Amino acid sequence: MSSISAISAAATLGLSASTPRSTLHALPPIGLGTSEVESLTSYFCRLANSHACTTNDLAKFIIERIEPGRWETHQGTPGKSRFVWYQRSISGVGDSALNWAGMLSALTGVATLQQLTLLPLQGCVAAKGLMATRARWCPYCLADDQREGQQPYFRLAWDIGLNKVCVRHLTALIARCPHCNASNVRHTANVVVPGWCTACGCFLGSAIPLDPTIPPATEQKLEIEQARCITDLLAAMSTSPETGPAFTPDIESFHQGVERLIGDMDGGLAAHFARRLGVRKSTVHYWRTVRTPLTLEALVRIAMHCGVSLANLLQGTLADWCPPPTTQQLALQLGYPLPNQHRPKRQHDWGAIRQRLRDELKQTEPRSVTEVAKALDIDVRHLYIQATTEARTLGACYVQHLHQRALQAQTAIYAELLQACEILRENGESITVEQVAQLVEPRTLNSTRHLYTVLSSLAGQAANDAAM
Ligand SMILES: [Zn+2]
Ligand SMILES: [Zn+2]
Repeated sequence: MSSISAISAAATLGLSASTPRSTLHALPPIGLGTSEVESLTSYFCRLANSHACTTNDLAKFIIERIEPGRWETHQGTPGKSRFVWYQRSISGVGDSALNWAGMLSALTGVATLQQLTLLPLQGCVAAKGLMATRARWCPYCLADDQREGQQPYFRLAWDIGLNKVCVRHLTALIARCPHCNASNVRHTANVVVPGWCTACGCFLGSAIPLDPTIPPATEQKLEIEQARCITDLLAAMSTSPETGPAFTPDIESFHQGVERLIGDMDGGLAAHFARRLGVRKSTVHYWRTVRTPLTLEALVRIAMHCGVSLANLLQGTLADWCPPPTTQQLALQLGYPLPNQHRPKRQHDWGAIRQRLRDELKQTEPRSVTEVAKALDIDVRHLYIQATTEARTLGACYVQHLHQRALQAQTAIYAELLQACEILRENGESITVEQVAQLVEPRTLNSTRHLYTVLSSLAGQAANDAAM
């Protein structure tokens, strides 16, 4: 626990309003903008190691900030918390991922942590069945990491259920330790070092290099194509806006895109499109009417059959797309109905929002980040993810402001109590709580901590003042 206490101490000390020090190490994520981008789970484990504390202790530290009391008091049994961090999809699309990415961004000051999760797909890809139910890895990737002198880490791609193979080595991902045959060895222990089995402690990377002359099995070809589709998407998703085009999926643009695909590929006929994809006609009909997020499996099918990347499909950017040449086109441009006008997805102007946060800092009475988020109608976690520095600075400034206010209140209370003590002394009366209570507001007594100690010290001070 000592390292966690050190972290807490750092949290308390790091209150400088101008440049808040990060509470946790600002560890750079691995593989951003590539198909081998790290997962948030991996980042979290590496962060715990870099602080030389257990993953459990770090999880507790984070959970207590996300949901105070959640860790200790589950079902009223102290120390028997059933919060199991590794069962949460902290790299997924749900609230857990948003909470963890937001909190880790706030604590580390690293602004790109959302890109280590599938959060950018939220609302565009169905969450159900998206994440793998077991921890899997490529033993050759881990061995490569070690050979190249880099810290082994878990790839986000390994957390996606549909992804069965490594696109770099064209081999199946594995889920059991080759040494002890245990599963879920990536993360069920107190100390997790990415790349080592948590059951037997052995390295999970392959000791034998891959023989590049052995071609992948025929039945793996489809899985390899699927994996390419998925990892290309991960690369597009984790590219920072400074180095490449921003990835902005939108469910309505996606469905408009699907209409275009059905139109150009199959003359607008859902039945033909369904047959092409190998799904039921009613399924395609359902997509067109309900316009809900599709499963990743369905999206990959569409992408592969139509020759479009998942990133373009999800963003509805089909301007440069044309039907694959081998396709027998039944009809072109049959005048399928134009999509309904829709309310455009809310786009935040993050530049303006950052400025708003900076303006807020100049106020004499700064507001909390939560209050400002509410006023801007933005989820506070997004503020921490997108405007990390500004949100953290404002948070630190607000805490300092609270401290200052508490200090002022205390000074006023002490002055009032001291005055009461002096009056009692002058009147030759003894200084007791009951006597003081006659002279000050009840509120003053109620809000004084350690009342007896304070009074006895003030009585001494009143005596001293009188003697001078
Ligand atoms: Zn690999
Ligand atoms: Zn093992």
